[in-house]
Amino acid sequence: MVFDHKLSTSKRQELIDITTLVESNLKVENFSEGLCVIFITHTTAAVTINENADPDVPRDMLSKLKQLVPEKENYHHLEGNSDAHILSTLIGCSLSIPIHEGKLLLGTWQGIYFAELDGPRERRFKVKLLAG
Ligand code: ZN
Repeated sequence: MVFDHKLSTSKRQELIDITTLVESNLKVENFSEGLCVIFITHTTAAVTINENADPDVPRDMLSKLKQLVPEKENYHHLEGNSDAHILSTLIGCSLSIPIHEGKLLLGTWQGIYFAELDGPRERRFKVKLLAG
């Protein structure tokens, strides 16, 4: 089974904590052991894991990413969002997280972030649970 999540983003670029949303799928399935695959079906969004205790961490990550890949440069892509396409590839569109005893094996400080890179938009992401 694949879970289809909808997300409304509110800024051009933001990191949205989706850990609780993803964990809710384990309860629905009553899932105990396996692998959780998260897949982003967009070319200007991404998914990543990082600290979700201090909000300054995602803030610093976004500000450094904006410096590394500026919004305006001599890009060819006429839509004007090449920075978002490039960041999507750098961050990645998929994660695999082990599940043990019904829980995601995330570290104490780890949270899952949906990375909006060209919002605000209506977004979707998929969660697939593999038993094993
Ligand atoms: Zn584009």
